[in-house]
Amino acid sequence: MFYKTYLIKYGEIGVKGKNRASFEEALVSQVRAALSRIGEHFHVWKEQGRIIVDVLGDEKETDADEIIRELQTVFGIVGICPVVKAPLGTPEEIAPHVVSFLSELYHLKMDERWREKHGEQLDGSAEGLSFKVHCRRANKQYPVASMDVNAYLGEKILDAFPGQIRVDVHDPKVMVYVELRDEVYIYSQVLPGPGGMPLGTNGSAMLCLSGGIDSPVAGWMISKRGVTLDATYFHAPPYTSERAKQKVVDLARIISRYTGPIRLHVVNFTDIQLAIYEKCPHDELTIIMRRYMMRIAEHFAKEDGCQALITGESLGQVASQTMQSLVCTDDVCSMPVFRPLIGFDKQDIIDLSLKIGTYETSIEPYEDCCTIFVAKHPVTKPRLDVIKRSEMKLADGIGELMKKALETAEVIEVKA
Ligand code: ATP
Ligand code: MG
Repeated sequence: MFYKTYLIKYGEIGVKGKNRASFEEALVSQVRAALSRIGEHFHVWKEQGRIIVDVLGDEKETDADEIIRELQTVFGIVGICPVVKAPLGTPEEIAPHVVSFLSELYHLKMDERWREKHGEQLDGSAEGLSFKVHCRRANKQYPVASMDVNAYLGEKILDAFPGQIRVDVHDPKVMVYVELRDEVYIYSQVLPGPGGMPLGTNGSAMLCLSGGIDSPVAGWMISKRGVTLDATYFHAPPYTSERAKQKVVDLARIISRYTGPIRLHVVNFTDIQLAIYEKCPHDELTIIMRRYMMRIAEHFAKEDGCQALITGESLGQVASQTMQSLVCTDDVCSMPVFRPLIGFDKQDIIDLSLKIGTYETSIEPYEDCCTIFVAKHPVTKPRLDVIKRSEMKLADGIGELMKKALETAEVIEVKA
C-alpha cells in the first residue's frame, strides 16, 4: 500500500507555551532536512498540533519504509502515521473511504515486512479482528459530534465486513483514527519516532568523540534534547592509524543522521602525550591526558559557539571515570560537562548503540590514543592538588605544544 500523506505527532514540544511556534518551525525544518535525503518531492507543513508530509509526484516514489526510516531520525517526533486523505463530508460520505482504507490495509501483502519493522499493528488475518473508531474533530466547524461520528463509522465498518471484524472499545487490535480537518485524515498505524526535542531548540555542544561505543551514544542522547553538535577527536599518529581516524569520521556520519551536520576537529595529540609520558608519574598519565583533552575541546567549543561539553563517561567504568577522576577532569573546564551515560551500565549503552546504529562501527578493532600510553596501575582516586603539582612538570614547553595542537587541528565537515 502506498501512502501519499504522513501525519506526524509530536509530544513535549506541544506544551511549550509561547515558544511553541518556534519549536514547531524547528521540527518542520528538520523533517524537511531528513526527507531531502530521499528527494525533493515532499511538501511539509504545519497544521493544528500536527505536521503533515504530502508526497508529491507518482506512487513509485512513495516507498513507505524509506520515508518512515528517515522520519524516525527526527528528534521531536513521537508518532508517524501513514494516512489516506478524503474530502471532508458528512459521515455518510466519509464512511466508504474508511471502509476501503481498512479493506486495503487488511489485504496488505507487504504486511510481513511492515510487521517485522514496526511491530504488530494490524493482524494479517481477519479472524476476530477487533477495532475501535477514534474520531478527532480538529475542525470545530464540523457539525457532527465526535461520538456520533465514531458510532456511525463503527456501524458501517461492521456492515462492510460481516463476521470478520468486531468492536472492542477497551482493547482493540486495530484503531481506526479519523481526523476531521480541512480534509479527512484516516489512519490506523502509529509508528514510533525517536521522541526528544527538535534540533536547534536547545543550543549546541562539543562532543569528545572517540572511536569507542560510549561517546557516539552520549552525543546522540544530548542531541535528542534539541542540541546541535560539534565534535573533537584526538589522535596520535603514528601510534594511531588513518583507519582509526576514519572510524571516528564514520561514527560522526552515522549520528549526524539524527544530529545534523557535525564540525569534527581532529587534533594531533602525539607530542602532548609524549611530553606527559616523559615528565609525569605514569600512574597519573590518563588523568593528566584527559585534562589536556578537555582544555583543547573547550577551546574549540568556545570557538564554535558551543555552550557545553559532552563525554561518554560512566561512573566507575574505568580508572579515569571514578568520582575523584571526574573531579580532576572537570577542574580544567569552565563550561558544563554533560555526561549523559553517567549512570548507565555498559550493556545499557550497547543496547542504545545498537538501536542508533553505531555499534558495528564502534567495535571495529582500531587503536585509540588513550589506550597507547596507559599505565598498568592508574590511580583510581587521584587528588587534585597532587595532579596539579605533577602537571607543573610540564610547564616548560607545554604551552608551545598546546598552541601547535590547536593550530594544526584539521576540521572535517561531516554530514549524513
Ligand atoms: P568510548 O567508548 O566513548 O571511547 P571509553 O569507555 O573508552 O569511552 P575513555 O577512553 O576513558 O572511555 O574515554 C572517556 C571519554 O573521553 C569518551 O567517552 C570520550 O568522550 C572521551 N575520549 C576518550 N578518548 C578520546 C579521543 N581519542 N578523542 C576524543 N575524545 C575522547
Ligand atoms: Mg575510548
